[in-house]
Amino acid sequence: MKIIDVRSDTVTKPTPEMFAAMAKAEVGDDVFGEDPTVNRLQELAADCMGKEAGLFVASGTMGNLIATLAACQRGDEVIMGDLGHTFLFEAGGISALGGVFPHTLQNQPDGTLRLTDIRAAIRSNDVHFPRSRMLILENTQNRCGGVVLSRDYTDQAAALGHEHGLHVHMDGARIFNASAAAKIPARDLVCSVDSVTFCLSKGLCAPVGSVLCGSKAFIDQARRVRKMLGGGMRQAGVLAAAGILAIEKMSLRLEEDHARAKRLAEGLATIPGVRFDIGMPQTNMVFPTLDESVRMGSREFVQRLADKGIRIGVTGDRKFRLVMHYWIDNADVDFILSSVRELLRA
Ligand SMILES: *Cc1c(COP(=O)(O)O)cnc(C)c1O
Repeated sequence: MKIIDVRSDTVTKPTPEMFAAMAKAEVGDDVFGEDPTVNRLQELAADCMGKEAGLFVASGTMGNLIATLAACQRGDEVIMGDLGHTFLFEAGGISALGGVFPHTLQNQPDGTLRLTDIRAAIRSNDVHFPRSRMLILENTQNRCGGVVLSRDYTDQAAALGHEHGLHVHMDGARIFNASAAAKIPARDLVCSVDSVTFCLSKGLCAPVGSVLCGSKAFIDQARRVRKMLGGGMRQAGVLAAAGILAIEKMSLRLEEDHARAKRLAEGLATIPGVRFDIGMPQTNMVFPTLDESVRMGSREFVQRLADKGIRIGVTGDRKFRLVMHYWIDNADVDFILSSVRELLRA
């Protein structure tokens, strides 16, 4: 049975071209700064993000953690969205490992944090308060539906943060999806932030890794933190070789995934019993809800689809996530649609 795995774009396997590049990658000891392929990846990433330097890290979680530990002291406070990846899905690492205090603000349906909320959250200088030190934004915002933050919004939020001395970090795990959807180069979407992390291993198909980009001084500090966390990876050029292709080639085809997400969502919307509570997709993620009128529960729905080889994500009661990526084609989308239609008719 063919498996159609749309739980996430993290399930993407490397392309044959990536495997070939990995096999012949030139490598060296990256902890000594001597892996030419890692160095090339870092320079390419920094250039794409319009920053001075880049640092190859094991994961997006590690990139956000390193950025936070490089920017903050123990007891400092970081402002972030309550639907942000760092708050929801990073195992509390900034607190556990950095003694950093999260201050969450409500994510608006468009993925933003209200500027008035950010302003109100920034602490004055008073011995009773933690020090406000950092602001984390997320683009695309995953839990709000893979929505795109505009350049204008990011510039305004960053200006506000900078006015109060905050380090502004962009969790840009899917910044190339945002760039494709907004039709703006990624560097323009992040030109006003101090640091940005993006994932090579999601829609871009590389097997492992993210890159953290920022000023030279910031990345020097981040490199120390990466070593401290055990993230100095030696002959990592084997992985970086795939990362280079991820940026050079895979970042250029994301529109295709967005078109498929739209095709899937529009098809699902015509099926009685399927609702779209958090809106139609702007990028590669589709978030349908099963109406209460449908007798089947979440668990049965997921199992019945799995029986047909379709693996989908669950984000809440009757809420699901289907993510389009390189290994999903139009026929797969149509098979998902016909399968859901058949299941809900029964
Ligand atoms: C996937 C993701 C990350 C990082 O995830 P890893 O699995 O650690 O690579 C960070 N932020 C967002 C918004 C993500 O979607």
